[in-house]
Amino acid sequence: MLLKWGLAVLLLGITAAASDYRLPTDIKPIAYSIDLELDEGVFKGTSDQYVGSETIVVNVINPVNTIKFHAAYNFINITNLTVEDSTVNEINVNNDTNIVTVTLDSVLAEGLVLNIAINFIGRLSTEDMYGFYRSSYTENGQTKYLATTQFQPVYARRAFPCFDEPAFKANFTLTITSPNGYAALSNMPVEHTSNDTDFVTTNFSSSPLMPSYLVAFVVSEFTCTQVDTIPDVPYSICSTDSTSVQRQFALDIGPKLLNSLDIFTNYTYAEMGFPKMDQVAIPDFAAGAMENWGLVTYRERLLLYNDDITINRDKQNIATVISHEFAHMWFGNLVTMDWWSETFLNEGFATYFEYFTTHDVLPEWELDKQFVTRVIQPILETDSQASSQALQAPANSDAQVMNRFSRISYFKGASIFRMAEYIIGPDAFQNGLKSYLLEYQFLNTKPEDLWRHLEDQLTETEKSKLPADLGTIMSNWVAQAGYPLIDVQYDNGNFIIKQSGRFLLNGVNSSLSWYVPLTYTVPNSSSRFENTTVSLWLKPSESVTIPQEEASWIILNNKVTGFYRVHYNDIWSKIAEALQGDSHSSIPELNRAALVDDIFNLARANIISYTNALNYVEFLKDETSHHVWTAAINGFNFLLQRVGADTTLGKSISEHVLNLLAKVYATVPWIQVDSNDHAYSLKQSDILSVACRLGLSNCVNHALEHHGEFLLTSNLPSKNLIPIIYCTALRHGNEPSNFNIIWSNYGLSSDAGERVQLLNALGCTQNPTQQEQYLNKSINPQSGIRPQDASIVFTSVYSSNPSGVDVAFRFLQANYEEIAERYQSMNALSTLISGLAERFTTTEQIEELRRFIDTSSLDQDFREACESALARAEGNLEWLQKHLPELYEIYELDEFGEPLTPTTSTTSEVSTSPVTTPSPVTPAPAPLPDAAKMLSFNFVFVLIITIISVSVAVY
Ligand SMILES: [Zn+2]
Repeated sequence: MLLKWGLAVLLLGITAAASDYRLPTDIKPIAYSIDLELDEGVFKGTSDQYVGSETIVVNVINPVNTIKFHAAYNFINITNLTVEDSTVNEINVNNDTNIVTVTLDSVLAEGLVLNIAINFIGRLSTEDMYGFYRSSYTENGQTKYLATTQFQPVYARRAFPCFDEPAFKANFTLTITSPNGYAALSNMPVEHTSNDTDFVTTNFSSSPLMPSYLVAFVVSEFTCTQVDTIPDVPYSICSTDSTSVQRQFALDIGPKLLNSLDIFTNYTYAEMGFPKMDQVAIPDFAAGAMENWGLVTYRERLLLYNDDITINRDKQNIATVISHEFAHMWFGNLVTMDWWSETFLNEGFATYFEYFTTHDVLPEWELDKQFVTRVIQPILETDSQASSQALQAPANSDAQVMNRFSRISYFKGASIFRMAEYIIGPDAFQNGLKSYLLEYQFLNTKPEDLWRHLEDQLTETEKSKLPADLGTIMSNWVAQAGYPLIDVQYDNGNFIIKQSGRFLLNGVNSSLSWYVPLTYTVPNSSSRFENTTVSLWLKPSESVTIPQEEASWIILNNKVTGFYRVHYNDIWSKIAEALQGDSHSSIPELNRAALVDDIFNLARANIISYTNALNYVEFLKDETSHHVWTAAINGFNFLLQRVGADTTLGKSISEHVLNLLAKVYATVPWIQVDSNDHAYSLKQSDILSVACRLGLSNCVNHALEHHGEFLLTSNLPSKNLIPIIYCTALRHGNEPSNFNIIWSNYGLSSDAGERVQLLNALGCTQNPTQQEQYLNKSINPQSGIRPQDASIVFTSVYSSNPSGVDVAFRFLQANYEEIAERYQSMNALSTLISGLAERFTTTEQIEELRRFIDTSSLDQDFREACESALARAEGNLEWLQKHLPELYEIYELDEFGEPLTPTTSTTSEVSTSPVTTPSPVTPAPAPLPDAAKMLSFNFVFVLIITIISVSVAVY
């Protein structure tokens, strides 16, 4: 039976109920044979169409007279559909769920295996980077096109009709016909090719069982470099030919990372049935990278490395992203989560191995420690917002499925897996994962399958030490949003430890509880910090006591293996003493970082005062650990963002930070650069970046000096310092041509990583006209800024200078339609407004947002995002009203946030910039406490001293 799309096919414009979002399981696909033909127009940019024919072999599980599968209605035009030995009565497509329903004239018998044959005309997406889409690049002055795919999570249905859910695993056999000169790559190796005068037809081998979202193909003029360092697995890096020299780092590091995973899992990649591993750098790519089995795709800057240009942070990203994608070969591809509601099973493990596999290969990079400050601490912050969702959450619409790819699935998933590792011990964890992979290879799982395999590694004695079975212990970490605040008090010879409830930035929810594994260290037992074996369990609604004769300090959570915060009540002052005294170095840097992060967040949540918090972190003046400073910088950044860095209060806080920063600043002098020392390079760029940003004159002068030399000689120092030099030159140099010079360097650069660095730097300009011109470039297709990078322009303008917030907000209001069209990422507008509104510090900004919502015709998603951004901004202003009086006291300012007594002693250290003071928020006048006066006096005084000593140390 032949059907014509639009005649027999009925388009139903209805919204599906949650139960209709999923395909029924009565019919399951076994194998696909897919044939795609692309003509020359696709690669000349004149056509977006291709011709497809497909056979799907299916198995009838339950007798039915309908077959349902996915085909995206505005990308796939079915021209013919037949079902073996049946007559098709009707074909309907729901254009909301993209489910096609084929109704037959008779019921299919259970157990039947039959073929569905489909012919269709497909359309490549040219408006976004999902499904089968077209990308372009310039080589030798010529625009070149390629056709490539991004199917996860719901976009395979845009390329060919399929059962597009992760549990429908099948074998895929692809044939792609393309013009001569354009080679096709797919998950499997090429079986054979046949040429005629104009076209080449590539037949790929059949794949092992896999879900549709892992299918991939790339048709391009790319070239590849291959090495054979992995036994039985040819390993290639493919990219535009002009970038071929940048493949070496990925060629070197990739096989080592894959080998590390082979050994950890005791299940080699070679055994999986994908006899090659291709890595492809795609010029336009929506996600960072995609774990297509055997054909991993990346943004160029996450795969290609140029030793002269690529900064160490980006080099690290290349290695960790490769680890992440390779980990998916086992966690996600070989064993797949049952449904997107448990995406954390895929992404949590990939994030875990992103750090720990790379750490195994490159231990000197300290990724095991970076995990605490770059994964655990940021997600503890996200997960303390009332709006944060649980790891396990509904996924009953495309939008909900996309939401499951939030940072919670990645970062909290990885943190919870690491906690499970320390609950049962690293050996049992590794062995449990091995047996989990073996039992569920090529199948799908739920979290309970994982917990069971992990628990099975324990002896009966070990199990008896757990407060419940592992599934029960882990279930509330997975099913419930947030994490506990642990409360520690000293009373009459005992430390008493209990959980207060879910830690939220706007209060504690005492109705929630968890099974919390505890480790702790008290004085004179410092070696215990190394001991990560759980020593106590805090059960829901119970407390534990630790006898301790004398009231001293206790620190919980050795090496930050548990996922919680701790409030030490009166013990905080004893911990602060220990941090400032001889015990400082006996408390490991990760625990010091955790203490700093907890202190700042408890103050932010109004559980401890800022007066106390800032006193507790005074030890930072002697602190030189990069990891501890990462936590501290985050804490101070929050304060500066809230109060506005260019207010008098903001400047006082900046002076305070610069005072504390003096010692660590002296450890990373400008003249000492060594990009081969990775950990040092990261620390140097982070510390110098903060120092210059806060206006430390020594830092600013160094940067301006280097920039001046660059203008004369085109010479720049270490690649890692260039972003700081450019940004500082724009922020502090008063020469308008600086912007134009960096912009023209952007145009000249062909390195994707460098181009992103330059885009970030350009946002540092303080000139409102340049900020506006720069924003306009992001929506101008002629500017050379790729749609995937457009949001960097917007973010850099509002986050680099307080003055950029209003400029970016005006631009968003005036151009939201163009932004939606040009910034080709999902929910671009929603992401922009929520990031921007986090920076609102005045009632005028909030009123302007309200006016924008009331007077503009916004689509529903964007309106909702604006409303929730408004609510967040109002909450932020309330926070400010609550905390400003105390902060004014601490920093010796009057009730309007102005200096109590004129002082000129330190202003020369902080470079001045045009100040827009936010309208004062009614503060309650209060007398200055002595401690605060002392603190304030001390750091003004100490600042002068330390700046002098820093100057000596640097020159
Ligand atoms: Zn991933």
